[in-house]
Amino acid sequence: MLEVRGLQKVYEGAGRRVEAVRDLTFTLEPGELACLVGPSGCGKTTLLKCLAGLLAPSAGDVLLGGHKVTAPPPGMALVFQEYGRSLYPWLRVRDNVELPLRQKKEMSRQRRRELVERSLAEVGLTHAHDAYPWQLSGGMQQRVAIARAIAYEPEVLLMDEPFAAVDAQTRADLEDLVRRVWQDLGVTVLFVTHDIDEAVYLGQRVLVLSNSPTVVQEQLTIDLPDERDQLTTRADPRFTAFRTRIYEQIQAAKVAKA
Ligand code: ADP
Ligand code: MG
Repeated sequence: MLEVRGLQKVYEGAGRRVEAVRDLTFTLEPGELACLVGPSGCGKTTLLKCLAGLLAPSAGDVLLGGHKVTAPPPGMALVFQEYGRSLYPWLRVRDNVELPLRQKKEMSRQRRRELVERSLAEVGLTHAHDAYPWQLSGGMQQRVAIARAIAYEPEVLLMDEPFAAVDAQTRADLEDLVRRVWQDLGVTVLFVTHDIDEAVYLGQRVLVLSNSPTVVQEQLTIDLPDERDQLTTRADPRFTAFRTRIYEQIQAAKVAKA
């Protein structure tokens, strides 16, 4: 579905050279939910921008369905960390969700409305169609951003630390929402986070990234049961074992570099 081959990204300018991503190679299978976990500043956002065609890689390729990504592909949607800046404050919730659909010229107005309805229902915001983003809590705003992404019917959904700025309880609810949306819609999800527990809880697979300049340090298959819930799953000894393993990996990488 999504193939990343030898991806490197170097930022250059004003006499500075920052190699954010050194050499990343991995693939996402259709319908998979994979998490990428790595420390702050390791190049996660840089990677996602390259995947989404918003930034040109310095070397290597991104392929979506066998085609090289050189501009934002229609089959991809991105949910950012900063929900406050990703929604238009002057548009009501339903208009925020509908906006990207207007780019799909062939789509009827009727169909757009159906998709908006369905995706707002999917994230539990049926009652908030007419609200403005600033009237909603942070968690609700992020649900609007998720609704907007899924209304677009992407094949691949990229999420960049989407819950880093909400409180713990809301975050737990939103994690469960992502699992449910993924199961309901069969979309391929790449979820990026700096939070090891979140990666293990959500993912079928976790890719562990090193510090910048970034490489994939390890890939783990998370063979916890598909039905996950915040209490049972997180108390599972296998969950703890995965967390410990990833934590040790990240620590070892730091020591190796120091
Ligand atoms: P993360 O999302 O994992 O926190 P980023 O991808 O935002 O990491 O950043 C990775 C590295 O690239 C950091 O060292 C950051 O300072 C640098 N960086 C990010 N964007 C730019 C840019 N536009 N110009 C120069 N350096 C950048
Ligand atoms: Mg980031």
